[in-house]
Amino acid sequence: MDFDLNEEQRMWQKAVHDFVAAQVRPKAREVDETSEFNWPAVRKMGPLGLLGMTVPEEYGGSGVDAISAAIAIEELGWGCGSTALAIAAHNGLGCAPIARFGSEEQKKKFLPGVTSGNNRLAALALTEPGAGSDLRGGVRTKAEKAGAEWVINGPKAWITNASIADYIITLVRTDLRGGSHSLSMIIVPTDTPGLTIHPPEKKMGLNGSQTNALTYENVRVPLSYLLGEEGHGLRQTLATLDGGRISIGALAVGLAQAAFERARDYARERQAFGKPIAEQQAIQWMLADAATEINAARLSVRYAAWLKQEGRPFGKEAAMGKLYATEMAERVCRNAIQIHGSYGYSREYEVERIYRDARLMTIGEGTSEIQRLIIARHVLAQE
Ligand SMILES: Cc1cc2nc3c(=O)[nH]c(=O)nc-3n(C[C@H](O)[C@H](O)[C@H](O)COP(=O)(O)OP(=O)(O)OC[C@H]3O[C@@H](n4cnc5c(N)ncnc54)[C@H](O)[C@@H]3O)c2cc1C
Repeated sequence: MDFDLNEEQRMWQKAVHDFVAAQVRPKAREVDETSEFNWPAVRKMGPLGLLGMTVPEEYGGSGVDAISAAIAIEELGWGCGSTALAIAAHNGLGCAPIARFGSEEQKKKFLPGVTSGNNRLAALALTEPGAGSDLRGGVRTKAEKAGAEWVINGPKAWITNASIADYIITLVRTDLRGGSHSLSMIIVPTDTPGLTIHPPEKKMGLNGSQTNALTYENVRVPLSYLLGEEGHGLRQTLATLDGGRISIGALAVGLAQAAFERARDYARERQAFGKPIAEQQAIQWMLADAATEINAARLSVRYAAWLKQEGRPFGKEAAMGKLYATEMAERVCRNAIQIHGSYGYSREYEVERIYRDARLMTIGEGTSEIQRLIIARHVLAQE
């Protein structure tokens, strides 16, 4: 792996960083307090290429390489966890499956609208009230053929962007006998009759990113909205989540970087025992550990991204990057609050919000336990 970013990637990083510093970061607190999605900034992301990072140019995307996509999500995470999660889910979960498995007709129909910034975004519905980690055994939402249509019935839960999406790719059971070929993905436009998007969940953090439960009640879409082949849904899901994990790892690195910077600046200013607390070795060690772990996590995430863009297997490395980066972010954010003392526990200081936002990262797109399970399977299968 070339550890140095190339010229194009450096320019991309600077452009995204400057955009986030100007349009996203200043609104992070407001977005958290009001639970309002930052549409004004997201509208401007279309022309920048941030809404089509997994989509080739011919379908309206920017088709950037996987390292550039990870850089962008990290920068967004540095600016605002809520906005970053929405954009990560839109690109990695809502767009990537169509770009990868969709027919020419599906790509032309669904992708240009959601990558432009003038329209709504995209979402992926895997999770159900009774199925998160165990999608293979747990998914109850079913789709049955009726003439030229699929008829979908069942519940979904915890779906990012559902209320601001143009369509929701939905994981359904198409073979009620079960097994690894019983699931399929179907594209469901959000204005289809019978689809109910419930009010946003009240969450611990990431309040500016909408998360909704869904009910499908005799939702009818054309047979041609099936993504790829019938029965390939589990395989498509696992492949999509491999890519999504690089995103969540990158987002966690961005959150940790933001918390670290706030803690470092505070430590330089806050006086105790007649000198800045940054002169206390206990504080210095927390900052040193944070800087070291952020660096290690960033490299781990970018290594997985590099393998992906090289077309090499990257599932194990994506799981490692996600596991390490998200658990690292929790430690770093926790210590950023510690360094702030009581002020860190106050809503007046950014580290409080960042800590709440970071808490999701070890859960969404596969919990830490599931990442360990994936990594263990890989290492045990090795000679
Ligand atoms: C803010 C937010 C946004 C989300 N966005 C989306 C989205 O856009 N689309 C979507 O489909 N889903 C989304 N989710 C759902 C999320 O991906 C799932 O919640 C997650 O995968 C965990 O599933 P679960 O909550 O059902 O936990 P469960 O699977 O019930 O797990 C509960 C606990 O048991 C552990 N566990 C389960 N199985 C094992 C095992 N075999 N070995 C060891 N431990 C195990 C888990 O690690 C966890 O600690 C979102 C969730 C949140 C909170």
